[in-house]
Amino acid sequence: MPSALSGQKVLVFGLAKSGLAAIRLLLAQGAQVTALDARDEAALGDVARELKSQGVTLVTGSAPPGLFEEQALVVVSPGVPLVLPELQEARKVGVPIWGEIELAWRSLSSVPLFGITGTNGKSTTTALTGELFKRGGGRTFVGGNLGLPLAEAALKPQDWDSLVVELSSFQLEGILQMKAKGAVILNLTPDHLDRYPTHDAYGEAKARIFLNQGLGDFAVLNAEDAHVMRLGNHANVPAYGFSVSGQVAPGGPQLKGLAVARPGGFRLDFLNEDYTLTNRALRGAHNAQNAMAATLLARLGGVSREAVQAGLDSYPGLPHRLESVRVLDGVEWVNDSKATNVDSVLVALRAFAGNLLLIAGGKGKGAPYQPMVDEGRGKVKAVLTIGQDAEKLAAAYEGQAAVHPCGTLDAAVRKARELAKAGDTVLLSPACASYDQFKNFEDRGDTFKRLVQAL
Ligand code: ADP
Repeated sequence: MPSALSGQKVLVFGLAKSGLAAIRLLLAQGAQVTALDARDEAALGDVARELKSQGVTLVTGSAPPGLFEEQALVVVSPGVPLVLPELQEARKVGVPIWGEIELAWRSLSSVPLFGITGTNGKSTTTALTGELFKRGGGRTFVGGNLGLPLAEAALKPQDWDSLVVELSSFQLEGILQMKAKGAVILNLTPDHLDRYPTHDAYGEAKARIFLNQGLGDFAVLNAEDAHVMRLGNHANVPAYGFSVSGQVAPGGPQLKGLAVARPGGFRLDFLNEDYTLTNRALRGAHNAQNAMAATLLARLGGVSREAVQAGLDSYPGLPHRLESVRVLDGVEWVNDSKATNVDSVLVALRAFAGNLLLIAGGKGKGAPYQPMVDEGRGKVKAVLTIGQDAEKLAAAYEGQAAVHPCGTLDAAVRKARELAKAGDTVLLSPACASYDQFKNFEDRGDTFKRLVQAL
């Protein structure tokens, strides 16, 4: 692949998934690659061996003096903070610092990119938008922060008609020229305050998704989120909104059009189009937001109305997010293992009318459980507790719902099978991290699915 980077020295800093994808792309472009990671060779294992066999110079631990300054380019992983002193030094002597997204973009600039960011719902909206574009018949790359890194798409730019890309705030910090044809900010709640000094700084990083947009491009905003609307002022392109209630928060740009929730679906007012939303994988008001955002991206991005409706209907859902596992004797079993904090459980509880048996607990994050007790009042009949925080949860639910201390997920599933009656829903939405009993939330969700399938 001919490239301006051919023969140039490029340092890739951080060897996780996107760093390794960046290296593959750089090697294909003929760059002389040095790879740097804080972990030592033993910890890197196969990765270290493979890189060396491909002719990559591997540096582990801290970088020797001058390493950054001698590069033509430094590509950083999203995990690496751009404020590190060595990066500042390199910048001072004129070495460009790009994120992996920027590197990939340089090869993909002729393909329309649809970018999705926000605190919550990025992966769902990205996967769903991808489904809508694919339904529209285009060859669509779906990835970024979710699934495949964008650098994988950049290996064969001619293979794609459109790119649907999940972008984290860390990834957005590392862009310079990347331009989204359509860009959405879904919502903004306090997050990553370990890496950002203030909520505003976190928002500013997200607003970089509008950087470089121009003629023919558009922005999509959560019209009910005042902070997102204010960030919309950074967009110099037509802005569209979505709103479950129909309300539009003040302080943002004038909207060219609005998607508004309706019973059983939503409406795009500027096109006079109604869509139905009956897919189980998209239940809940939060998913109505995700669906409206995805529909705006797709319709404004050229996908037909029929293809959008077909995609909304056929979207299979992502695992571990309100994933319907099975209906057994009239009882639905739902895996929401991704709900590792109380806020996510609130979102899940709002998606159901009632008759819930809730399996919760694990490694708690210190937030009070009272909000989920309040949200679930009249809806949660029984709570089956597991893991480290079982007692805290039990204390919060005392007098509000029947509490069954189960200890393990296995015991909780058996107990739920015993208690549940036709019309009930058993919901695993733990409000906690999984590390006390599982490798990660995926392992917890997979275990749940296995146990439920075995019933
Ligand atoms: P992300 O990739 O941003 O983490 P996901 O699509 O994986 O987002 O969803 C993660 C969790 O965030 C879900 O399990 C759900 O609890 C919550 N969530 C999803 N969409 C939204 C939304 N639009 N608003 C608020 N919370 C949401």
